[in-house]
Amino acid sequence: MYRLKKIFWRLILIWAAVAILCGLVFLLLLWESGRIAFGPCIRGGERIAEGATGEARELLETRNFEASSEAIGDLKAGIVDERLVATLQAITEEHRVCVDAFKEGHYFLPGVPDGPLIPKSYGNAGGLPNSHYYGRAVDVRRVNGKSVSGNGTDPDILDVGEIISRVPPQERPDQVIGPESWAEALGRSGEEGWILDEDQLERHKDHIHLGYIRNDGTWNVR
Ligand SMILES: [Zn+2]
Repeated sequence: MYRLKKIFWRLILIWAAVAILCGLVFLLLLWESGRIAFGPCIRGGERIAEGATGEARELLETRNFEASSEAIGDLKAGIVDERLVATLQAITEEHRVCVDAFKEGHYFLPGVPDGPLIPKSYGNAGGLPNSHYYGRAVDVRRVNGKSVSGNGTDPDILDVGEIISRVPPQERPDQVIGPESWAEALGRSGEEGWILDEDQLERHKDHIHLGYIRNDGTWNVR
């Protein structure tokens, strides 16, 4: 009787272990296919790109491209500037990035819906056109799984800046803003698109903002 009981419990244990293992494999498959995400970043892939067209579709199919569901929605809706899509493609050729927001889900002030202009109370940039609102700006919060916050001089995060600086002036964003340590280490100028105002660096401690001020051309002179 004792032996039978022992065998019975052993079978239960084996069965439980198999069930847990199957569950993990199932979750892994869902994650691989992009059906579930751990955290705010959904990984690019064919299924994610369904319904998108053109370059936006190609970006969404990129495994190195991760984004929030709102950012994916903007790409599918075709409201993201093509130059921005191309810049992100250049970055994702070398690094995995997680995009927080283009237009949808972007807030300058918590709880205040974004509009065509930056809110007056948002430092020196207050009152200027809001490039996010027009699909001409992106916020990147993570690079290769590392958060931009506190990692301004991390080689991968610096390399994103190097890739941007190699984009020709008229295709390169003319609103490049990141943490102060990041901007300092890269040593780029306003003529190249970097915004170096103290109050803007302070507001970009935890993400890299890439934007285009105008619909046509850029302010970059070199
Ligand atoms: Zn931004």
